[in-house]
Amino acid sequence: MGKYWLEPERNIEIFDECDILVVGGGSAGHSAAIAAARAGAKNIILLERYGYMGGDVTGGYVIMVPSLSYKDKSFVRGIQEEWFTRMANIPGAVLGPEGKEVGSEKPEDIYKWAPIFDAVSSCPDSPKRVVRSVYFEPNQLKIEMDKMLFEERDRIRVYCHTWATRPIMEGDLIKGVVFESKEGRKAILAKVVIDATGDGDIFSQAGAAYEEIMDKNTRCANTALVWRAGGCDFEKFFRSSMQNPESMMKVFKGLGETFGHRCIPLPTPRNDIVWFNNWIGPMLCTDIKDLTATEMDSRDKIRGVMDFLRENVAGFENAFLYDIAPQTGNRCSRRLKGEYYLTPFDFAFHNEFDDVIAWHSTVCKINDSAPIEIPYRTILPVGVENLLAPGRHLSADNVAIDWVSLIPQCIGTGQAAGIAAAVALEDGSTVHTVNIKKVQDILVAQDVPLPRRKDVDPELTEVCEANNWGLYTEMAKKAAADPEEFKKYRQW
Ligand SMILES: Cc1cc2nc3c(=O)[nH]c(=O)nc-3n(C[C@H](O)[C@H](O)[C@H](O)COP(=O)(O)OP(=O)(O)OC[C@H]3O[C@@H](n4cnc5c(N)ncnc54)[C@H](O)[C@@H]3O)c2cc1C
Repeated sequence: MGKYWLEPERNIEIFDECDILVVGGGSAGHSAAIAAARAGAKNIILLERYGYMGGDVTGGYVIMVPSLSYKDKSFVRGIQEEWFTRMANIPGAVLGPEGKEVGSEKPEDIYKWAPIFDAVSSCPDSPKRVVRSVYFEPNQLKIEMDKMLFEERDRIRVYCHTWATRPIMEGDLIKGVVFESKEGRKAILAKVVIDATGDGDIFSQAGAAYEEIMDKNTRCANTALVWRAGGCDFEKFFRSSMQNPESMMKVFKGLGETFGHRCIPLPTPRNDIVWFNNWIGPMLCTDIKDLTATEMDSRDKIRGVMDFLRENVAGFENAFLYDIAPQTGNRCSRRLKGEYYLTPFDFAFHNEFDDVIAWHSTVCKINDSAPIEIPYRTILPVGVENLLAPGRHLSADNVAIDWVSLIPQCIGTGQAAGIAAAVALEDGSTVHTVNIKKVQDILVAQDVPLPRRKDVDPELTEVCEANNWGLYTEMAKKAAADPEEFKKYRQW
């Protein structure tokens, strides 16, 4: 038994009231607030515990958005593509294949994009092709995400340095949240709450069904502390590694041994700056001791890794530590067990959903990254009303979460959550009874392609049908032949 201190009862000041309260300004929460404003909601609050938007993508230096296309078609658009079009003319802000290059199988295009990890497909069951995967500069994105909020300043009030600590409930209805700040403990009341904390901080206390990471062998069971090196020549590193794959394996082994965990150099929009992604685990990003160890033990190893690179690796002879991400890389922890639960079967079969809110090509190899449908019910809690949960804690099992907790799906489900909240309020419905057709209409109007619609480019469906929804892979065939055996499938 632990020791306890009984907290005395006290009145908490109502700091503000709104229609839609978004908790967490990461890719999901930021998109939710922006989409709600654009859908007509006028009284929105965005709470964020840090001083900037983006969460993992800006503070965690997760600077790569993969698999936006299938064959030669871009499926993931909406706010996700808006990030890149807005930053397209800023020097050094964005790098990735676009236009006619996307889907190309020409050797010269494959050669050009090969160094840019995930910009060339790697499914063994189909020819290599160029994929729209985009790298960006996180500080430029921080600035751009602020700009998007400034444009909606009449509709969205942003409160940074506010840490939401618990929901305010009336039975199974959420009415707002309590938060901690330098001003002390206060409350915000709201008609709809969007939990976009990534770790289910709100839904886990509101009575919604949820689960924790159960399989320690998944990608999501790893934390990270990402850093960047300057003075590099990434193209030289990549091309020399390709000429000598054995030496590349030695480099990866040496890096892993020096860092203590899997750690790999990845490109950025600039050839002279390299991003070090890593997988520290199993670690839980809701555990204080795991978070502390991730930060301090990683920093302790970075100088050693840089020495190893300078001494042993072509392209890193003059490399230096450029910067360290300001926050821990949080992949996953608590996840909603929502009205629908995504599993690998949703990738191995062509499943259609009437409440589809995102039709996304993903990193999953089972269907060679062909688009799958993500239903609204994956962000809809069981047991709580007027609460939505988009982002990396959406409802998916231990395997599927590795494919749907990436940036595009966090933005896509966030965009849909904001619109659903706006529609529910305008129509006087709840988030469970919201007119989903209206939500889908607004999503399409906000440049999100959805399947089975006359107002969406028919070539998107045609490319899927012509390629059997990507289900030509050996893995998909095995799943169709023996679904029971397929249940044991693990990617990581
Ligand atoms: C190291 C690493 C590498 C990755 N690699 C890739 C990749 O290459 N490509 C890709 O697409 N995806 C990648 N991912 C996954 C992807 O980055 C995340 O899943 C996604 O960015 C999560 O977005 P989110 O908005 O759901 O959550 P987060 O980005 O975690 O945002 C949550 C926000 O809520 C705030 N918050 C949290 N709790 C509270 C609270 N109680 N009160 C107030 N505010 C709160 C946080 O500060 C944060 O701003 C990676 C993740 C990591 C960690």
